[in-house]
Amino acid sequence: MNVNRIILRYLSTGIRKHHSLEAKQQVLVANLFGFIGYSLTLLLGISAYARAETVLATVLLIASVLFFTSHLILHVKSLANPYKYSAILLTSSLMILMVYLVYSGGNNNTGPLWIYLVPPVALFFGGLIKGSIQLAIFILITSFLLFYNQGELLIAAYSYEFKSRLIYSFITVSGLFAFYEYTRQYSFRRFKEMSDTFEKQAMQDPLTGILNRRGMYEKLKQEFSRSKRAKSVVTVMMCDIDHFKSINDQFGHNTGDEIIQSFAADFVSALRQQDVVARWGGEEYLFLLPDTKGKDALLLAEKLRKRIEGMKFTHENKDFVATVSIGVHQVTEKDSINQAISKADKCLYEAKVAGRNRCILA
Ligand code: GH3
Ligand code: MG
Ligand code: MG
Repeated sequence: MNVNRIILRYLSTGIRKHHSLEAKQQVLVANLFGFIGYSLTLLLGISAYARAETVLATVLLIASVLFFTSHLILHVKSLANPYKYSAILLTSSLMILMVYLVYSGGNNNTGPLWIYLVPPVALFFGGLIKGSIQLAIFILITSFLLFYNQGELLIAAYSYEFKSRLIYSFITVSGLFAFYEYTRQYSFRRFKEMSDTFEKQAMQDPLTGILNRRGMYEKLKQEFSRSKRAKSVVTVMMCDIDHFKSINDQFGHNTGDEIIQSFAADFVSALRQQDVVARWGGEEYLFLLPDTKGKDALLLAEKLRKRIEGMKFTHENKDFVATVSIGVHQVTEKDSINQAISKADKCLYEAKVAGRNRCILA
């Protein structure tokens, strides 16, 4: 196994299949921060120990253990959302460690330099609102420690200028990170909306607004596997407009388009909630009727055919009607999607041969 694979596997600990893209990213970053956290505190802890700074060394080593625990939590399969607990442990351990470093000065008063790690971590794991609240609390606690009675609570001694600049610069960094987090969230939401819209468009027929062939295929796949599991019946119907070529020839292509649209709208309004109709081809519609027997579907097909026959169109003051033929097939257990459609198509063909404007059940 190469190094990249090992690193990727380590950073992916806790990622579940059902996680959204954003959740996956969060788990990845939790692993990364956890790793940096425990290795850094471990190294600094050992170095403090070597300098005989036992208290600092102990605090750093405890922090190291806590950061490592935040990684271990991600391994726990029985937790519904281990990431949440891992992130809470990571953020709170970091904040407590930072308060301690400000309080004690760490190694030779360099401890406060590390507090700039808090804004990115808090905002990334807490999000904009929770992260900002956590940062505000952190600022209040550290300010109180630094300025209470001129630093009476501290072990370390800092100049007033150092303390005030530390807090100002921390607030500036926090503000910048909050703004960055806001734009990140905004871009992510926009990106999600756009990809949802594109996905929907890719499934939709632009002329009629109903599903296109691709969208219908998705529905068919879902329904075929659902009905096999539930052992329920499904019927498909293929519908084709009669003599559409001559309608186009007589009344023009635009009128033809209007008819295709009107029929689609009429079908949608006549169907039940769970039924699906799609534009399968030029002037062909495919219906998917879950939990419907062939003979019930035939009644529906007859109803649709009569509604269409009753629709009047006008072109240059001339009234005309268009009709449809429908082939109905109750899906059998052995039917693949393509076989079921081709059987419905065969019935449609029979309806055409038998004189059009009629419905035929297999
Ligand atoms: P039949 O009763 O046997 O179905 O006769 P038909 O004329 O409808 O048969 P055919 O399938 O050969 O012709 C379909 C015609 O539909 C051909 C094509 O010009 C027209 N058509 C396909 N898509 C569209 C479209 O989007 N808009 C319009 N206006 N016409 C279309
Ligand atoms: Mg056709
Ligand atoms: Mg036709």
